[in-house]
Parts: sequence; structure tokens; C-alpha cells
Amino acid sequence: MTEAIDIFFATGNGHKVAEMQALADDSRLALRLRSAKDAGGMPAVVEDTGTFLGNARKKARALHAQLNNHSWVLSDDSGLCVDALGGEPGVESAHYAGPGATSAANLAKLLGKLQGVPREARTAHFICVLYVVEPGGLEHNFIGRCDGRLLERERGEGGFGYDPIFVPAESHLTFAELGEAVKNGISHRARAWAKFAEWLRGRKG
Ligand code: IMP
Repeated sequence: MTEAIDIFFATGNGHKVAEMQALADDSRLALRLRSAKDAGGMPAVVEDTGTFLGNARKKARALHAQLNNHSWVLSDDSGLCVDALGGEPGVESAHYAGPGATSAANLAKLLGKLQGVPREARTAHFICVLYVVEPGGLEHNFIGRCDGRLLERERGEGGFGYDPIFVPAESHLTFAELGEAVKNGISHRARAWAKFAEWLRGRKG
């Protein structure tokens, strides 16, 4: 690869931008991650498709259109799927306790619903769909998954969202205790990103 690619990230979530930037830096790709702010702000998108893939596609296409269909755009959609709750909160992860809900409220609602569910049944996974639109309009998606289990109460100060109760299968610590560097080695986002990076390297030859 000779020239770095500028790729606009279709999100308004600062934590995700930071995590994604770290992944981009680690992957040693000639890639400059640009925020939606650099593209005039993230256009309003109603995430109503009912799937991670559909929502990611909608966000990527909206920003791509705003950039006159000439730029590289990346979006992601992610969430937590809890087996004992039939996959909830799933695509509603960000708004589980209602529109505009805080992470603390979402977490409290989830812990409430899981009250009395025994340790062996508290399995869950995070999903991340990365969606890429090329300048010419070709579209691609990359899916990452991280399996684990949910504690009965929060542990750790780091991370965001459901991190304080999620213990990945690879560890006994929560995502909030593990810290960004370790989380970025095993997370759903890291795994989706690794697939994207591999594809991009192959594409460049
Ligand atoms: P999105 O912004 O529509 O992708 O919603 C993602 C939501 O899923 C976040 O607001 C969090 O509640 C949850 N989530 C996604 N990834 C993570 C993670 O790595 N840790 C904790 N919560 C996450």
C-alpha cells in the first residue's frame, strides 16, 4: 500500500472512536481514522432495522451519502446478547432502559432481569458488525463476537456500557477490570477489526 486511506467513522460515540483508533494504530495499516465530525457531523439515523447488520449498513450509507459517495466510510453496530433473556438487550443495548437511558440505568435493568438466574445460565456475548463502504459504493461487512458471562454486580472502573459485569471466557476479570489494552486484544470490536484489517491487506496485495 502506498498512500494512506482516509476512512470516516460513522459514529457519535466517543468511547468507540477511541477504541477503534487504538485498533487502527495496532493494526499497522496505512489508515487514517477520521471522525464523523470531520465530515460535517454524523447525520441523524434511526436505528430501526432490528438487526446489527441493518443498523450498521444504515449508518454507513447515511455518512457515505453525506460525503457525496466519494469517500471510504466505516460504521459499527454492537451490543450485548444475553442467552437467558432470548438475546436481549441486543440491538437495544444502548437504550435498554428507555430513550436517552444512561449506562448505569441500562445495567441496573439488566441486573434486575437476571436476578435469580444461576451462574451457569448467565452466559452472554457481545457482537460487533463493522460495515465498510468504498468510494465507488462497494459494501462489505465484518462480524466479531466475544463470549462470556455476566456477574451479579459491577466490578472495575474502566471501559463503558456493560463492561463492569461482563467477564470474557478468556479471563476471570471483567472488561472494566481488564483495561483497554487487554480488552482490545479480545473484544468483539477487536475481532471484527482483525477481519477488516486482513481483508484490507489482502485487497492491497
Ligand atoms: P450502538 O452504539 O448502537 O452500537 O450501541 C452499542 C451499545 O452496546 C453501547 O451503548 C453499550 O451499551 C453496548 N456495548 C457495545 N460494545 C460494548 C463494549 O465493548 N462494552 C460494553 N458495552 C458495549
